[in-house]
Amino acid sequence: MNNGAFFFQGNNLLLPADIPDTQMDRAIPLDFVKEFDKIECEKPDIFEIPAVEGGITCVSLSPGPLPAGLRAVPVRQGLSLLDAGLAEGAPSIAYTQNPSTGRLLRAFHIAQWRRESRFCGSCGAQNTDAPGEPARLCPVCGRQEFPRISPAVITIIINDEDKALLAHNKKFIPCVYSLIAGFNEAGESLEATVVREIREEVNINVRDVRYIASQPWPFPNSLMLGFAARYASGTIRADGVEIEDARWFSRDALPKLPGTGSVSRCLIGRWIAGSL
Ligand SMILES: [Zn+2]
Repeated sequence: MNNGAFFFQGNNLLLPADIPDTQMDRAIPLDFVKEFDKIECEKPDIFEIPAVEGGITCVSLSPGPLPAGLRAVPVRQGLSLLDAGLAEGAPSIAYTQNPSTGRLLRAFHIAQWRRESRFCGSCGAQNTDAPGEPARLCPVCGRQEFPRISPAVITIIINDEDKALLAHNKKFIPCVYSLIAGFNEAGESLEATVVREIREEVNINVRDVRYIASQPWPFPNSLMLGFAARYASGTIRADGVEIEDARWFSRDALPKLPGTGSVSRCLIGRWIAGSL
């Protein structure tokens, strides 16, 4: 988009007053960058992100005061606002994402990564931008670095009574129950991650692990891979570390669920619709 840009500051997207949060996937005029010259702040990092559907300019700012006329909106909040309709309206099809939401998340992910990749991880020299792609290049030792993406799995477990296992994680909002999730470890297949995480967190064994859908989750750099699995054996016992409570739920007695726009809600929605 010509003359349009995303402005990021920390975990926030900056928006002018006349653009509502529900339109946070819209680029705003690049001219806003001039407003930052008028206040005391570090020089912004301005970069281009190429994309099939049209590249985008991004402006990444260090924490600090904002010029009048701009407000900060958490990017994470945007997920539920932008993709709510898709997740709610189409629970029986594969999780799909608005292309404009994907562009926002991609830009946000790269903006965060750029802040953390200013210096070469091998020799410590200051990195430059690799030509033609979002990558860093060390001018001294030639090391290239690409944006880091950390895969994590999230799984809906269903038992023979067609109930789903939902759990309350200590980090969740009170009373919200969702799916078991965890990071893939080095040398581990995603299916093995599913089996290990479930055994560690709720003490049961699963079978028939199958992939369903994925979602970028750049908070700060995950890719969530959604799976379904069947209960095989064992008695539920929450680990007490991450998981406070875990139970089997039937469709007619559900607890408070995670917000729309998340792959967890999409998987739960597909089970509720009987289409898993
Ligand atoms: Zn180097």
